[in-house]
Amino acid sequence: MSIQHDNPNAHDGTANPVAADAVVDLDGQAAKAEPAAAPPSARTGAGVDGRRNIFDLDRTSLEDFFEQELDEKRYRAHQVMKWIHHRHVTDFTDMTDLGKVLRAKLEERAVVRAPIVLFDKPSADGTHKWLLGMDAKNAIETVYIPEKSRGTLCVSSQVGCALNCQFCSTATQGFNRNLSTAEIIGQVWVAARHLGNVPHQQRRLTNVVMMGMGEPLANFDNVVRAMSIMRDDLGYGLANKRVTLSTAGMVPMIDRLGQESDVSLAVSLHAANDELRTELVPLNKKYPIHELMAACQRYVKRKPRSSITFEYTLMKGVNDQPQHARELARLMRQFGNAVQMKDAAKVNLIPFNPFPGTRFERSDDADIHVFQKLLQDARVLTTVRRTRGDDIDAACGQLKGQVTDKTRRQAAFLKTLQSQGAGDAAA
Ligand code: SF4
Repeated sequence: MSIQHDNPNAHDGTANPVAADAVVDLDGQAAKAEPAAAPPSARTGAGVDGRRNIFDLDRTSLEDFFEQELDEKRYRAHQVMKWIHHRHVTDFTDMTDLGKVLRAKLEERAVVRAPIVLFDKPSADGTHKWLLGMDAKNAIETVYIPEKSRGTLCVSSQVGCALNCQFCSTATQGFNRNLSTAEIIGQVWVAARHLGNVPHQQRRLTNVVMMGMGEPLANFDNVVRAMSIMRDDLGYGLANKRVTLSTAGMVPMIDRLGQESDVSLAVSLHAANDELRTELVPLNKKYPIHELMAACQRYVKRKPRSSITFEYTLMKGVNDQPQHARELARLMRQFGNAVQMKDAAKVNLIPFNPFPGTRFERSDDADIHVFQKLLQDARVLTTVRRTRGDDIDAACGQLKGQVTDKTRRQAAFLKTLQSQGAGDAAA
């Protein structure tokens, strides 16, 4: 999920209009139907020319691939993962500790195909943004935010989003399609290669937040598989608490996530009463606040010592007044009491970043200060997010509109795909 999150994210303006058959099942089974434009790799993990894209496979599925499809020892998968994720090598011929016969077999049956970098843009404050081509029609953005003690990558899970949060620039584009595991982990790979990141040795990428374009829980399987590669020592070696999934509140899928993964959870709350939240986050109509908070309680109880971050975008005159802060403090206290854990809830206040066409405005600094103080006085752990990457429009909600000359860029992308022998994907 989502705009206005803890970190700058990738709500770019490249998604196509919503396809008539693109449906997100809010009961939790991800997008049921995908537009015809989605490439085979987005649906099946197959490479565009019928070969497996190894980026689609986590450790277990890659071991299975080696054993069952290549008739090779399972440990060979580990060597290949290290070449790809630690050394950023994608050409099998350069994987010198594999025998010639195996390399030839891999050439025939597999590819390592990362998203294509259409452009990348550094910011004066160290923030870095990439526009990545996913297929001939779609591109998404990924943002890296360095801080003193960590480097965070904000990753997208869908092209567009169907949830229609009122303050979100991605919502204005509608939903186009889910990203495949390869397209999700490919964002991490591109950033890691650029940064020269080596897990456990030269750590430039210490955190990943699934807070870019899309609702990650609506693309559950691909996102969970990608997060498992992020947390695997043969992948990016990130600790569970350093991988965060942010959701608008798909209640059944929060429960499923609790059963299947150990990542940190963030919830886009933005209002502490149902009337206002339903207006801002329409999903609230289906899963009102008491159901959402109950799911959060179950998540925390399943994972002792974990906490949940509640994202709250402050919009002038909408949800930034003292009564809203008191309401939020009450909700957070109730949550803490229910799970009987100190600091089980953290609130991250995010000053709204206006984008063209929005009816919302950024809150005044004085109101932000009062809001934060009221929460802190009520002993709610509260931070205010600092805006980063202003000069590259990388902050939340600012990424849309970067691809203004879409036609020209798509033509260039098509050419690149074709030059790489992927003409069928570009057709
Ligand atoms: S519409 Fe809502 S869920 Fe979707 S990306 Fe925007 S803020 Fe996140």
